[in-house]
Amino acid sequence: MQTELEIFREFIRSKGLRQTPEREIILAEICRKREHFDVDELFLRLRGQDKKISKASIYRTLPLLVECGLIREVNFVDGHWHYEQIYGQPHHCHLRCLSCGAMVEFEEPRLAAVEAELSRKHGYQIIKHVLEVQGYCPHCHQKSSARDEEAKHV
Ligand SMILES: [Zn+2]
Ligand SMILES: [Zn+2]
Ligand SMILES: [Zn+2]
Repeated sequence: MQTELEIFREFIRSKGLRQTPEREIILAEICRKREHFDVDELFLRLRGQDKKISKASIYRTLPLLVECGLIREVNFVDGHWHYEQIYGQPHHCHLRCLSCGAMVEFEEPRLAAVEAELSRKHGYQIIKHVLEVQGYCPHCHQKSSARDEEAKHV
């Protein structure tokens, strides 16, 4: 299996772009700590390590990393995209709390059967699916039921 860096360098070459150390530092940080992130979080992580990377270069680099399949857009929340590293990782879907934003990652093998069924029925060659299930986590759910209870007793 090729490393992330090899894939990225090949991709940059194939696009006729110039290889820059900034882009590689950004990629290395994303691979070092595999978790969901947005531009601001990544910027702060890099700054915490005294890496002088501008937000502008993060904004420019992330679409390239998406395009070559190393990361993916997870969701558009609070007015901006959130990402995660996916290369070499098993596929997963997300369960997201609409109140606090907490996310649970899960795998659902039955979705493979849904894909196969869709392929058969509509003649599509299936590449992927994107699924986000939304609701309220136990903590937020409890808080809001407590609020409802209080309202009843006023
Ligand atoms: Zn899935
Ligand atoms: Zn919550
Ligand atoms: Zn995830």
